[in-house]
Amino acid sequence: MSLHRLGLFDLQNEFTRGTVSATEIATAFQKRLTFVEPKIKAYITPTKKETLLAYAEGVDRQLRGWRKTMPLMAMPIAIKDNICTEGVKTTCGSRILENFVPPYDATVIARLRAQQYCLIGKTNLDEFAMGSSTENSAFGPTRNPWNPAYIPGGSSGGSAAAVAADLCVAALGSDTGGSIRQPAACCGVVGLKPTYGRVSRYGLVAFASSLDQIGTITKDVRDAAILLKVIAGRDPLDSTSADLEVPDYMKALKENMRGMKVGVPKEFFTEGMDPEVEEAVRAAIEEMKKLKAEVQEISLPTTQYAIAAYYLIAPSEASSNLARYDGVRYGFRATKEKGLLEMYMRTRQEGFGAEVKRRIMLGTYALSAGYYEAYYGKAQAVRTLIKRDFEDAFKTVDVIVTPTMPTPAFKLGEKTHDPLQMYLSDIFTISVNLAGVPAVVVPCGVSSKKLPIGLQIIGRPFEEEKILRAAYAYEQATNWQRKRPNLT
Ligand code: GLN
Repeated sequence: MSLHRLGLFDLQNEFTRGTVSATEIATAFQKRLTFVEPKIKAYITPTKKETLLAYAEGVDRQLRGWRKTMPLMAMPIAIKDNICTEGVKTTCGSRILENFVPPYDATVIARLRAQQYCLIGKTNLDEFAMGSSTENSAFGPTRNPWNPAYIPGGSSGGSAAAVAADLCVAALGSDTGGSIRQPAACCGVVGLKPTYGRVSRYGLVAFASSLDQIGTITKDVRDAAILLKVIAGRDPLDSTSADLEVPDYMKALKENMRGMKVGVPKEFFTEGMDPEVEEAVRAAIEEMKKLKAEVQEISLPTTQYAIAAYYLIAPSEASSNLARYDGVRYGFRATKEKGLLEMYMRTRQEGFGAEVKRRIMLGTYALSAGYYEAYYGKAQAVRTLIKRDFEDAFKTVDVIVTPTMPTPAFKLGEKTHDPLQMYLSDIFTISVNLAGVPAVVVPCGVSSKKLPIGLQIIGRPFEEEKILRAAYAYEQATNWQRKRPNLT
């Protein structure tokens, strides 16, 4: 049995039944890392072989003769490198945090650790999660497992590539404007961005705090349901986390969509969209009809302003959040400076990459006196309209189905010199963050160039159960999820 190919649900089953040990699992994934990781570069910090094996032996010893496992015990899970892991480097893909070792765990990590999960490594990302291709990482790009000449998407490109290439059983990512869903689409895996407030952000290094949310990247929908259950819920350390009960998401999964109303927003089928993407998404909508969903066209009229609003709000929040990297308390500090001011300036000049600097400048400008109302204020007003569009639409439909990205993955280097083109990759994912609603992406096709295409299913706030149900029914009725990259 190739253990690395199994999803979380199946690997859990094997381990709980005792057919495989933690050591066998760790060894299988360790081998996979040795042979496949050099081609993909999904990780910034893969866990060392000795550490993995020592962990696994500890688990096996603990279970000897008394098999009482916890759901994530021995499960090799990859973590995006902007989520703090106590004692393990957390770089955010930036020189400025190149040697930063957090003294505490993010809440999501504490929850995984309470179940004795196996940290298989910290995954690559665009610097501070700013980007759509993972090319903005200070440590080099990650490659798409379907074709190494292409980007894996971003910013959680390392996590998505690691799941697609069987370099972990599941992963966590973060999503501020599409960073879980867009790489999931590019790599042909399942990406879930929960409702804002569903999952604690404590210990997630802040990019744009009103948009950031941690979520899951998995091999299938069932695995997303399992992992979300573990990380979701109120956390006293994050006052924006919602005090709502966390349902058993597995119970929500059904093989049909009977009684579900599906909205298809006309504004999401724009010119400039790759015909293969449109065809795949239209076919998925037909499939949903067969699954007994009631499909209707809807309108989200403010969609066309989403990118403009996002690229004011997100950089504004980033410029404020990133002010803390001054070389004084932690992270990189420039040497040979003369005086404090020069030290600040050189530290930031040498420590941040071009895209991060661009965002800090844009954000600082948008927030500055005299421009605040015209830029930041206006963007916030547009954000309210976008939120209202969704509220109106959800009066008549349960879920909204859209493409995830206008094209399949593009080639490495294709958009690095044109930030606006790069920003346009986020056109279908960004309004979801601005509205704070949940969305899941599932594979719905493969292009003629053999690159995956993803379907996005958006839900009402805190109705992750419904989007997971729709995604599961669709996934079970089709075989896109079983198509895997060829990585021999
Ligand atoms: N691509 C978007 C950006 O560059 C989204 C990033 C994200 O979701 N973290 O801001």
